[in-house]
This record gives sequence, C-alpha cells and structure tokens, in this order.
Amino acid sequence: MTTEVSKPQIATAVRSYQNFINGKWVAPISDQIYERKSPVTGQTIVQIPWSNQADADAAIQAARQTFDQGNWSKSLAYTRHDVLRKIAQAVRAKASELAQTLCEEVGRPLAMCLGEVQLTATVFDYFAGLALDVKGESITQYDSSAIGLTVHEPVGVVGIITPWNFPLLLVSWKIAPALAAGCTIVVKPSEFTPSTTFMLAEIITQAGAPEGVINIVTGDGPVVGERLVESPLVDKIAFTGSTAVGRRIMAKAAPTLKRISLELGGKSPNIVFPDADMAAAVGGAFFGIYLNSGQVCQAGSRLLLHESIKDEFLGQLIAATKSIKLGDPMDSTTTMGPVINERQFDRIQGYIQTGQTEGAKMVIGGSGRCSVEGLEQGLFVQPTIFDAVNNEMAIAREEIFGPVLSVITFKDEAEALQIANDSTYGLTAAVWTKNLDTALLMAKGIRAGTVWVNAYHSTGLEPCMPYGGYKQSGIGRELGHKGLEEYFETKSIHIKLGS
Ligand code: NAD
Repeated sequence: MTTEVSKPQIATAVRSYQNFINGKWVAPISDQIYERKSPVTGQTIVQIPWSNQADADAAIQAARQTFDQGNWSKSLAYTRHDVLRKIAQAVRAKASELAQTLCEEVGRPLAMCLGEVQLTATVFDYFAGLALDVKGESITQYDSSAIGLTVHEPVGVVGIITPWNFPLLLVSWKIAPALAAGCTIVVKPSEFTPSTTFMLAEIITQAGAPEGVINIVTGDGPVVGERLVESPLVDKIAFTGSTAVGRRIMAKAAPTLKRISLELGGKSPNIVFPDADMAAAVGGAFFGIYLNSGQVCQAGSRLLLHESIKDEFLGQLIAATKSIKLGDPMDSTTTMGPVINERQFDRIQGYIQTGQTEGAKMVIGGSGRCSVEGLEQGLFVQPTIFDAVNNEMAIAREEIFGPVLSVITFKDEAEALQIANDSTYGLTAAVWTKNLDTALLMAKGIRAGTVWVNAYHSTGLEPCMPYGGYKQSGIGRELGHKGLEEYFETKSIHIKLGS
C-alpha cells in the first residue's frame, strides 16, 4: 500500500461559530466552547458552542413561535418551491467551499466531498418539485349526503439530529422535505462535522426562509440532542446515527408520543454469484467497503462469495486494496483519508484484534496506526480483509464502521439468503449476478430497505427512491414521496351536506 504524500495541504485556519437562532448568530448561554481537531493533523479546525439545555430551549422556542405564527407553515406551495430551488442553486454556487469544509472535517478525499455537495443540491431540487404536488383525497362513495376530504398539514417543529459521516447530505435528506412540508426546524449536528450545517443555515436564510424557520444549536448529544427529544414543543425527531442512540431516542420520545424517524446502523451483505461480471463485482466490493474509510451505514461489510469464485475474487480484491493511497484528503492523489476521531480509531482497532482472536484469517491490513509521512497525527487505519469468517463472529454481526471487510462463503441461493438475513440489521444489500431469477429471488427474499442489483452505494443518486431500514436499522423512510410524508400529519374532514 502506498502511503507517501507530497506535502500536507490541509487548511490551518480555525472556523468559529455561534448558535444560529431566529436568523441571528447567538452566543451560547453555556459560555462553553468545543474544539474540533482535524483527523489529519490533530490541529484545531473548528470552534463551536458547547451548548446547554437553555440554549437548546432558545432554539426550540424560536422554531415553535415561527411555526405557530404561520408565515412559513401556511405559506403557498410556490413560496416553498422557490426557496428550495434557490437553496439548490446556492449549494451549487458554493460547491467548492462546502466540499473543502467537508474534506477538512470528515477527512474524505476532496473529489468525493464534491460529490456529496452535488447530491445535496439534487435533494433540494427534488423536494422543490414535490412541494408543488402535495394534495389530499376526496372520498365521496360511502355516503350520498356527505363528502370526505383528507388534507396534509406540516407536522410542526422538527428536531434534526445528524451524524458525522455525510453531514451535509444526511441533513439535507431531512431539512429539504421538512421545508417542503412547511415545518420549522432545529438542527443539532455532530460536533465533529458542524460547519456545513451552519453554512447551509445561512444559505437557507438567504434563499428567503423567514427567520426562525431554521435554527442550529451545537453541543453534546445527551444534553442538546436529548432536550430536542424530550421537549413538548418539538413535534417530531428525525435522527440519523447509531442504533444504540436510536434506541435511547425512541425511549426518551415516548412520554410526549413524539413522531420519530430513525436511520440507524447496518451490516450489509454484498452477495456475489459465480455468473457475475467479476471485474464489476470486485469494483463494487471495493467501493462498498472502502468509501469514506468504511464509515458508511450501508457499507458492504459482509462480502458473501460463492465458494467456486472465492479465491479468484479475493485475489483481485486484495490486489485492488494494495493500490489504496492513504493520505491528506486534500491531495488529489489520495484515495482514502483518515477515520473521524480517536474513539472511532480505537473501536476499529479493537475489531481488527477481535477478528484475529475469533479465528478469522487476516489476508491484508492489520491493527495499529498506519504511518503517513508528514501526517504523523493522522488517524489512518489500514484497509483490512478477513477471510474464513463465519456469520456468528462479532466481525460479521457488529457494525465496525471502518475499512474492515468480513468474507463469508456460500454454496447456493438458499444459504446466501439465510446468511444475509441472519442479522439484527436490515438497511441495505447487494446482489451480483446476470441471472434475472437469482437477482429477483434474492431481492425479494432479503429483509432490507434497499437491495442493489449489480451496483453498490447507488442510494442518493436517485432522490425519488425511498431509503430506510428494516429491523434494527431504523424506522421510517427518507427521500421519495415517503420521505415527504414523514413531515405531514393527515387530517380527515367529514362534511355533511344539506343540513
Ligand atoms: P451517534 O449515534 O453516536 O451520533 C449521532 C448524533 O446523535 C450526533 O449528533 C450525536 O451528538 C447525537 N447523540 C448522541 N447521543 C445522543 C442522545 N443521547 N440523545 C440525542 N442525540 C444524541 O452516531 P455517529 O457516531 O455520529 O454516526 C455513526 C452511526 O450513524 C453509525 O452507527 C451509522 O450506521 C449511523 N448512520 C446511519 C445512517 C442511515 O442512513 N441509516 C447514515 C449514516 C450513519
């Protein structure tokens, strides 16, 4: 594996933010600051408020008053459409600044960060379109002297809590439908990647959303996040993050019977049959596990290979893995950046050791900090593949969230399906085959919210396709019409005629 970099190019300037409440930058009542350190250099790159519950309450109050006052929640569809289109245009206009900021905070190579920005613009365009097409039903056939109507109304104040791996795209999956529906919003972004959410709040305000429609408050999940979840003034929580925190949010939302949508973890099976296009499937397995240093909820972290092709397939995948160039994500020759923080680094190291003690065969990679010349503080993990994994091992059952792949073999379709479904998760899966019957039988049989055939990580390319998890991968759907429905209440109006 090549690990040299020409010269560190990561920025050294420190960004500093205050909370964004009611259209203004507001110093935190808590008076405390959090410093985010670069995963590449270890230097401070961002300072944000480490807010307390009173700060969260101020943001919630602003969103509540704005919603109840009605100039956004009752605005015309054309107004919301117009704002959403302008947001998409502004995101495109600021693409390089947004991508550079993502690159510095997430640590993902710059070109891929640009891809995240472009997908984000598409999400706002898509929901701009849907905002114009919200309509209820009329029900006339049950009572000749009555008419029934259903109308969609915005759910209210939405609390949005987001993770650090795709901070701009994943927040847009929530903000765009919430705005299209007429909701007001309080976002608590991850403290590791806060800047692009602040930048988006400015864009949204400049695009014409009234003050108080979008509010951002940063701080600790158990303090600020939980305040959003527990507040009786918040009507819905839209969360993306770990299954453990998702469970806690569900419990904390119960007393107020808050609406919740949860996008959680995964342990996705990527299944390759012998008739697959081998080069395409190797590419899919590579992209499936290594995108964003493996820190992807839908990573293809369980590679299920038919026993007849395992050796050849694995040989090609190992060769491709050797070509990975770890380094400064700003350097255009880098293909994999660091992982997000020390905690995640240690967690991945722990799993690499667990795989070895469980008896899996490590065929490339290993534990320990991967040294990159000139970036000794960088949190670089060696891309690692375990062969001879069985589905009972922790490395096959638990989400590692790093560039660590577990390879499992199968004999036939039935066994592949049994292994694929033997998981507490059900977020995504992929099937590689040229046989239509095999593809469709697997796609129907796998209990997951998304199944790709002869592709990996296509989600987000089509914002009209709903996305979400079966089982412990989540509740609800984002994107598509279903994603918009999450931000509406449905009211039935019964009209008695002739009285
Ligand atoms: P996390 O669950 O640790 O944190 C997510 C967010 O929740 C952060 O903003 C955090 O501050 C906040 N939070 C933490 N504790 C909280 C609490 N008690 N109450 C309210 N909020 C709280 O997740 P992460 O480490 O930021 O992200 C990685 C996880 O996200 C992985 O498990 C991954 O699978 C999941 N994820 C899922 C999807 C999806 O679409 N299904 C997408 C991306 C990431």
